[in-house]
Amino acid sequence: MRKNIVAGNWKMNNDLAQTEALLTELQSQTKTSNAEVMVAPTFTNLWHAFQSLRESGIEVIAQNMHFAENGAYTGEVSASMLKSIGITTVILGHSERRAYFNETDQSLAKKVDAALANDMRVIFCFGEELTDRKAGNEEAVVGDQIKNALFHLGAEAFKNIVLAYEPVWAIGTGETASPEQAQDMHAFIRKTLADKYGNDVADNVSILYGGSVKPNNAKEIFSKPDVDGGLIGGASLKAEDFFAIVNAF
Ligand code: 13P
Repeated sequence: MRKNIVAGNWKMNNDLAQTEALLTELQSQTKTSNAEVMVAPTFTNLWHAFQSLRESGIEVIAQNMHFAENGAYTGEVSASMLKSIGITTVILGHSERRAYFNETDQSLAKKVDAALANDMRVIFCFGEELTDRKAGNEEAVVGDQIKNALFHLGAEAFKNIVLAYEPVWAIGTGETASPEQAQDMHAFIRKTLADKYGNDVADNVSILYGGSVKPNNAKEIFSKPDVDGGLIGGASLKAEDFFAIVNAF
């Protein structure tokens, strides 16, 4: 059966000293739920975080990577570089990458391929904008994002893919999707997968919700049958809040 996962996306926050402080606080937290726990520091702090959380049961993951193996891509980091420091999971397709760094379904398909070719696990993000939802187009937009970036893959690939539905209008705004809105979209996503790959694949893929998940709303969102966890931004920067969310399962 599919796993429950709570992943903290630290985004472009925390210098080395702040990272060290947060890592120490994370180590003092107690997990009482069955969720897998992950945190995604910036590239500069990945190696340090990996070393520090080695024995903690918290997986350290990357926020992004390039699709090329090596070469003349100034400023970029490859899958093999991440793997060489022990990182085996990467977030791809976050809406901030799509909006500010021109990532497209097509470039993301290449990143997904590169990650899977390197035996990495992918947390693949997508989600509609407010205008899409107001126009009633949210399912069409999300369906296209998934199809365009992932539907060239074989069924086997989904063993290493986690999906993260993050409606853009709920990210960092304090306005979360209602548990019903999240459930409806997650059920649609699972059906989209089932139509293409069958129930076996669809039922085993974890689908996370992201967008203003906080300690006071996590339990209700996670109680929905098709919500298998969360991708947490702001609330993952405080160890206590993050673990309150981890323990909301
Ligand atoms: P917030 O939890 O800050 O809304 O961010 C969500 C997110 O973008 C996680 O990737």
